[in-house]
Amino acid sequence: MPFLVLIWFSSLFAFSDSDSPVFTDPVAKEADNMVLKHFPDTAAARHFLLGRFDPAKHPDFIRLTEQDAIKDFYLQKETAAAFRKMQAAAADDGISLKIVSGGRTFQDQKNIWEWKWKEQKKAGRKDSLDIATRILEYSLMPGTSRHHWGTDIDINNINNSYFQTSRGMKVYEWLTTHAGEYGFCQVYADESGRPGCAIEKWHWSYLPLAETYLQIYNSVITYQDLDQFSGSGQADDLEVISRYVNGISTACRK
Ligand SMILES: [Zn+2]
Repeated sequence: MPFLVLIWFSSLFAFSDSDSPVFTDPVAKEADNMVLKHFPDTAAARHFLLGRFDPAKHPDFIRLTEQDAIKDFYLQKETAAAFRKMQAAAADDGISLKIVSGGRTFQDQKNIWEWKWKEQKKAGRKDSLDIATRILEYSLMPGTSRHHWGTDIDINNINNSYFQTSRGMKVYEWLTTHAGEYGFCQVYADESGRPGCAIEKWHWSYLPLAETYLQIYNSVITYQDLDQFSGSGQADDLEVISRYVNGISTACRK
């Protein structure tokens, strides 16, 4: 009996220690192939998807100019090029588009998250589950934001009130009509039954890249990967991967 326990224990160890386990079933094999098509290995995929890399040193990323954005954010070159095309087309129609938030590292997202966490505490809230749920209405947990991937942008203003002004309404109308022609989709749209964060008329995702990243995210990221921030222990209870990371509009899914 002790011998069998030893075999069981060592096989468990061999798997948990490996970043690229040998998959035997076809579905897992296909997922593994997709990871390897885009990343050197699953560890690299995990780092990227969690935003744990420096975009200034990433060959696929570019720093935005003041023509593109209000700050020197980074984005994937392909996303930036698509945005610039869209921006020029919008300008021809008298619509001005500017990026107010772009790529964010894990640390960037953590800064936002921890600031909001402190505000909730100051307001007297103590229950971590309650605090996390409130923040999740507009900000995803570090490691779960699409902004990590360099594919997602916030356009013009991150307040719903702006999109109720006549200028904001025109911008939104233009985007809903034309953004798809440039690969952008409103992931947090007004769709009944969509779980996850609230409607964000400003947040647009460059799907030719982001669709693939979401698929890879679902095959390599687990709740154990979400840590090192306040309330990370609630990620599992709140099902942030299925409800928030995957809580996107039907029109933006494959
Ligand atoms: Zn956003």
